[in-house]
Amino acid sequence: MTKIGLEIHCQLTNLESKLFCSCKANYREFEPNQNICPICAGMPGSLPRLNQEAVKKATMIAMALNCSTPEKIAFFRKNYFYPDLPKNFQITQLNIYGDTSVGGSGSISVGDKKIRITRIQLEEDPGRLIYEGSSSKNQITLVDYNRAGTPLVEIVTEPDFETPKEVRDFLNILSDLLKNLGVADPSLEGAMRADANVSIHGGNKVEIKNIGSFHDLEKASHFEITRQESLHDRDIPIVQETRHWDDKRKITVSSRSKEEDLDYRYFLEGDIPWVKINSKIQSELKLQMPESINSKKERYVTKYNIPIQVADVLSSDKFYSDLFEEAHTESNAKEVANIITTELMGLVDTREKRETSMMQFKLELYLEIHLKMHYMKF
Ligand SMILES: [Zn+2]
Repeated sequence: MTKIGLEIHCQLTNLESKLFCSCKANYREFEPNQNICPICAGMPGSLPRLNQEAVKKATMIAMALNCSTPEKIAFFRKNYFYPDLPKNFQITQLNIYGDTSVGGSGSISVGDKKIRITRIQLEEDPGRLIYEGSSSKNQITLVDYNRAGTPLVEIVTEPDFETPKEVRDFLNILSDLLKNLGVADPSLEGAMRADANVSIHGGNKVEIKNIGSFHDLEKASHFEITRQESLHDRDIPIVQETRHWDDKRKITVSSRSKEEDLDYRYFLEGDIPWVKINSKIQSELKLQMPESINSKKERYVTKYNIPIQVADVLSSDKFYSDLFEEAHTESNAKEVANIITTELMGLVDTREKRETSMMQFKLELYLEIHLKMHYMKF
């Protein structure tokens, strides 16, 4: 039997600023190393200041994934030396001294199956290494710290997936959920990255690192299952190791041996006090959360009599459900839903098109509805 577990890193792309300073969370619009300050560049003597909005949004993600949410959260230093991390430690969260990360265990339904969530933590993204040069001999490595300190939410699942298809279905649901919450745009380059643990027939677990997109995550799991099956068929033992996803060759390659939590010498981050998220704050956050995809779907079916398949498609996409909410009236809801799902969805199928043509399409939609109504009257 195949078992796959995921660790998904999702940037909170809709936030204004980084996790511990006021530099922009949207680092993509800057020239290299232009979106930095003494805090995110790890200068001696600088002190982090926690972005409260990031804590709120991460807690909302935990709530939407039905995770337990502790009343007090803490931050830890994860110590390691690597050029993408100017402080030589990453500020992250840890649960070994009790549940102190934004989310504890939870679950989410994927079709008929329940995928268990182990934990959710809030942490800072490191900088980015850029490799230049034509061959490995004269390759140079450049470091861009614009990304360093961007708020990142890590979602860890139990090894509950049995096929790459289940992984893909889960990622689609997660991606829709994050968009609906208004916390992230998973389609932005580098906004969603993942590691996967894969094992077959109860054997050793292999961790695949560095998977840069959801699309590649499915491919990487597929490749790794095939590789392990092929070894298993020839009675060659599967080594417990960390492998790297090579997105050019679309294969996994053996890399450094796996570090354990102990190797990182975690300790409590003394520059950031514990954060209280008591039941009163938690209830307020729940009130601020937008209507869930499931609740929208149910409302579309019961209130407007929209067929369940149409309601399903409409509710899971924030862009189209917002459009629907704005365009429909009590009497034409069913027809508007139909026009959006049968005609508009094929026309506005990319993020760029959605952004540039949103207004135009709203107008066209109104026009189309009016024409149809007019036609029906005669
Ligand atoms: Zn900064």
